[in-house]
Amino acid sequence: MRVGVIGGGQLARMMIPAAINLGIELRVLAESEGMAAELATAGVGDYRNVDDVLPFASTVDVVTFDHEHVPQSVLRALVEAGVAVRPGPDALQYAQDKILMRQKLSELGMPVPRWAAVSDASELADFLDQNGGVAVVKTARGGYDGKGVRVVRAAHEADDWFMALAEDANGGPLLAEELVDFRRELAQSVARRPSGEVTAWPVVESIQRDGVCAEVIAPAPSSAGKLAQVAADVATGIAEGLGVTGVLAVELFETVDDRILVNELAMRPHNSGHWSIEGSTTSQFEQHLRAVLDLPLGATGCVYPWTVMVNILGGPTAGTLADRYPGVFEDHPTAKVHNYGKTPRPGRKIGHVTVSGADLDEVAYDARAAAVQLTD
Ligand code: ADP
Repeated sequence: MRVGVIGGGQLARMMIPAAINLGIELRVLAESEGMAAELATAGVGDYRNVDDVLPFASTVDVVTFDHEHVPQSVLRALVEAGVAVRPGPDALQYAQDKILMRQKLSELGMPVPRWAAVSDASELADFLDQNGGVAVVKTARGGYDGKGVRVVRAAHEADDWFMALAEDANGGPLLAEELVDFRRELAQSVARRPSGEVTAWPVVESIQRDGVCAEVIAPAPSSAGKLAQVAADVATGIAEGLGVTGVLAVELFETVDDRILVNELAMRPHNSGHWSIEGSTTSQFEQHLRAVLDLPLGATGCVYPWTVMVNILGGPTAGTLADRYPGVFEDHPTAKVHNYGKTPRPGRKIGHVTVSGADLDEVAYDARAAAVQLTD
């Protein structure tokens, strides 16, 4: 069995141990030499160029992704050439374009923030008028880690984006959304295989700092019962409604008035699911491989009462992550350190730390302290 992964980042990298355990051959098409998934890199190529992607795809049984940026034209050329692409282009378009995603989720009756596609400042002004004078404006395509997301209180505050889109031949409208009054952010991951089976992990809490995921608590505190069920039902409904194959992560808002609203979709393993490597019977990386190969899915329960994952952002101020191992391993024997092999740069995700156990306070303290020791 050969799985091809387009993109050589840390998500592809973390599929490698799962593939080794199952004796699956993983072949990565990386953007450049020396990427996080170098160990499984079969070649370097441009994922936007069908002439790079097609020869790679013809060497594997199924193609999947480390990111959602492969253009629709390339995805459709693969499908036409008979390549099994999972998730397929029809599903992936909703992870590539936030306006398409909002339209489709609204059609499916999924709970989403109030939204509108706005083409110019006057349409944004109308949306502001209807929504208490404040909106979250997003570029429909190409945003990540909070880049391409802006809170505006006057229509002119998005002028630079409207101007950039007007100059872009492929530029469409912006997405305007209500500013959701949320208590916390949650994430619900599921996996779906082509033959239809869906499994859901427990819903988790994700804590963002400066628009970037800083920390994940699994399961989300006080989520047993109704909340867990609603989150799992929403994500399962989206996976089925959009025909997703592989892992689907649904970022959610829990509003102050106890509603669940869908923020974002990712159709691949996701930062909010890294906890599952140690914390669940089946990790998101193993499940993704099983799902895209249409194999029966694994159990998704928690192995420990609590698992906390803390991202290592930026990295050590001097030296490498590995330089910190003696101290961190000595002080935090329960911490599992994941090093993506990336060069530290301010704000860059270069690894994460996971700690599991019975007491949430202790687990969270240990994970945070270990992450600080790795970065300070
Ligand atoms: P990205 O694609 O860059 O990750 P998101 O759409 O997930 O962007 O938004 C990034 C962060 O901005 C979210 O995690 C959340 O904290 C905040 N945010 C996004 N949309 C809204 C909204 N409608 N209301 C309030 N906060 C929002």
